[in-house]
Amino acid sequence: MKPALRLTMAVISGLAGLYAILLVLQPAIVGSPQAWLLGSISLLIATNLVATVTDAVVQHQASLAGAGPPPATSADREVHGEVAKIVGLLQKQVDANATFSVALSKAKEQLPDALKPDQVRLVVSYLMIENENMRSRTAELQGNLEKSQRQIERLKSNLAAAEAQGLSDPLTGLKNRRSFDITLAAEIAAARTSSKPMCLIMADIDHFKSINDRYGHPAGDDVLRWFSKILQNNMKGRDTVARYGGEEFAIILPQTALEHAVILAGQIRQQLEAQFWKKPGAPNTMLRVTASFGVAQLIDGEGTSGIIQRTDAKLYESKSGGRNRVAA
Ligand code: GH3
Ligand code: MG
Ligand code: MG
Repeated sequence: MKPALRLTMAVISGLAGLYAILLVLQPAIVGSPQAWLLGSISLLIATNLVATVTDAVVQHQASLAGAGPPPATSADREVHGEVAKIVGLLQKQVDANATFSVALSKAKEQLPDALKPDQVRLVVSYLMIENENMRSRTAELQGNLEKSQRQIERLKSNLAAAEAQGLSDPLTGLKNRRSFDITLAAEIAAARTSSKPMCLIMADIDHFKSINDRYGHPAGDDVLRWFSKILQNNMKGRDTVARYGGEEFAIILPQTALEHAVILAGQIRQQLEAQFWKKPGAPNTMLRVTASFGVAQLIDGEGTSGIIQRTDAKLYESKSGGRNRVAA
């Protein structure tokens, strides 16, 4: 409802209200036998009001309940705390309306026995205007709640995106070092619980510095993206590939024994050897890129740093043994 119209209605309703109070408090000037009618209509309107606002609360709470799983992060909890506050405000409005309903019932009890028909009409019009006012206030409140709900949803998805960005490498889109550390710790714990083997592969591009030197840093970046795609294409199930740092990558292989991890590393090495990287915008500029691999299987009682050190030592063995090879 427009503010000007609402103001007009509030003024009319105020005047009508004053007159209605006069009718109730001055039985002497009231001569009609329809007081019971006024009381009943008052009650009906009050019930209607409470029902409207209760519906709004129930709908809003239902939409909150369907909004997703319970909050996981502290930021999520903050957001849900805000929502709880808003629902609390709405609940207060319901309580206020219940009070209004009680007041109307009391008015009915205190009404004189007789009111003239035109007096009844006046009081009823007043109550109807009040009802309309209350309806529009409820609709406005509902609108504001929906708006804040949308803002909260936007905030939640921004948080999720920020969280995902904090765990992925912007250049290659692979998991970053932080994410690798978390995943490795979790997979080691899972391997211990399930008593299943688990392996780690570390891969390092050979002579990458010379690629940068020869074709430029942006071309080097493109090689890293191209190499990442090849690694990613070789992942399946719960395997995790991450950029460990610079031109070094790590692959976590849960439920995998050493011999299978070695086969996978060899497969990736061969795929690299069998194709050429092509410089973007200069397809005639082609380069064969190779990488060296180190592989290790988790041993009893070992933690993250233990398996990383042993895998790295194997990678070093590949490098010192001539590069473009797998050591385990
Ligand atoms: P090796 O065969 O022994 O591994 O030699 P390498 O040249 O690959 O290794 P080295 O450690 O000497 O050089 C790695 C280079 O990788 C140096 C660094 O500038 C480059 N590098 C690290 N991160 C990035 C990156 O994000 N983009 C580009 N283009 N280069 C990077
Ligand atoms: Mg290297
Ligand atoms: Mg390196």
